[in-house]
Amino acid sequence: MQSDIVIVGGGAGGLELACKLGRKLGPDKVTLVDSRLYHVWKPSLHEVAAGTLDIHQEGLSYQMLAHDRGFSFVYGAMTALDAAARHITIAPVTAPSDGEEVLPERRLGYRSLVIAVGSTSNYFGVPGAREHTISLNATEDAERFRLRLLRLLAQAEQQKEDDAAASSGLDIVIIGGGATGVELAAELREASGVYAAYGFRRLQVRRDVRITLLEGAPRILAPLPERVSAAAARLLDQRAIRVVTDCRVNRIDPKQVSDNKGNVYPADLCVWAAGIRAPEFLGSLGLPVTKGGQIDVDAHLAVKGVPGVYALGDCAACTDGNGKPVPPRAQAAHQQADYLLKTLLRLDKGEPPQKDPYVYRDYGSLVSIGRETTVGSLMGSLRGASLFVEGFMARIMYMSLHLMHHQAVLGSLRTGLMAFARFLIRRTTPLVKLH
Ligand SMILES: Cc1cc2nc3c(=O)[nH]c(=O)nc-3n(C[C@H](O)[C@H](O)[C@H](O)COP(=O)(O)OP(=O)(O)OC[C@H]3O[C@@H](n4cnc5c(N)ncnc54)[C@H](O)[C@@H]3O)c2cc1C
Repeated sequence: MQSDIVIVGGGAGGLELACKLGRKLGPDKVTLVDSRLYHVWKPSLHEVAAGTLDIHQEGLSYQMLAHDRGFSFVYGAMTALDAAARHITIAPVTAPSDGEEVLPERRLGYRSLVIAVGSTSNYFGVPGAREHTISLNATEDAERFRLRLLRLLAQAEQQKEDDAAASSGLDIVIIGGGATGVELAAELREASGVYAAYGFRRLQVRRDVRITLLEGAPRILAPLPERVSAAAARLLDQRAIRVVTDCRVNRIDPKQVSDNKGNVYPADLCVWAAGIRAPEFLGSLGLPVTKGGQIDVDAHLAVKGVPGVYALGDCAACTDGNGKPVPPRAQAAHQQADYLLKTLLRLDKGEPPQKDPYVYRDYGSLVSIGRETTVGSLMGSLRGASLFVEGFMARIMYMSLHLMHHQAVLGSLRTGLMAFARFLIRRTTPLVKLH
């Protein structure tokens, strides 16, 4: 197999790039490779975990997008790269049910390769973290969390039925008070109320579904302005979510989490949201990588010393205009996809790459606190100035980010139709996924 442009990873950045390039150059020139068959925008995974977003409604089929947006799709995980021969290797695909091989190992040649494979969890060597926690790095993780939550709710409900005075219930511990941990905690609190309404009637959610958020820094949302952290802490407190800061987790067992001060937190369900790193296989490709495993790229997002190879998004280590590392965010992946779009279109016309380097623009951060409100800061055009936002309007802005991604992928008309269809569906289906 051969394609002029190969993009590996159809996430927040890679999929937008494939759709935009496909529309211009068509399926003979543009190929997307992904290890999954459908796309879910990663910033919505806390909603999948809480059951408030159904992946079977939300997931966008890569094959459908390929057909509609004019690129080719290859299903399978990239495992190796031969940069001299300019081809990648894609692992065989086997059926999960019986392990039978569905697709063999394949080779795909390229003229330009873009690696956009995102990130995975960084457990920092904490004993038990890998074995006894669930992360939110992939749709399967989020779905696994949801099913465990449903099972634990059912068991807690049954215990209450057997003995109304039982002091049972369940303990959920979230490790990491960054945006992922905070958003998940708030979403779970709201979802637990909805679950209770759908039949878990003996559970008093504030008392019986205990949610604890552990953060190693002195405040949650540490990279954001203090005012945003304080507002988020207040909103979590109002939702009966216990927040413990300055808490360094040093061990995780099947039913509890311990910190370095000797505190122990009961945990029926434990989420690891304390850090990310680049996928490990990147270290075996023969590309320059940083200590955190990210691919080292130059100011034009080209992999240093490897002609024809580019990287974007969470898996790429690049700096903003001031030499600071670009944070692993969907907004960075989106901007980098737009930058590489211009580069690759120029190369297609036989022109040299853009002279101007990639410059990251931080438009601020919004953190969702349940379905009603959002807090965050928006960056103004004045240097260093940021505007605090909270409440319903911030919520509308947060939701519009998801719509903007869909618009880049599906186009305006289909995004509008889909948003309307979902509005109607939410009036005819349960507010959380119950099966
Ligand atoms: C719960 C949560 C909330 C977040 N909220 C925000 C937010 O509010 N704002 C924000 O800016 N950012 C947010 N983020 C971060 C944001 O999701 C990421 O920074 C962004 O998705 C990175 O985009 P990407 O294109 O680099 O990778 P991803 O979007 O992670 O996509 C990677 C793709 O690569 C594919 N892939 C992986 N390995 C292979 C392989 N070997 N071969 C082929 N395909 C492969 C995967 O299947 C996936 O489709 C959040 C993240 C989480 C988990």
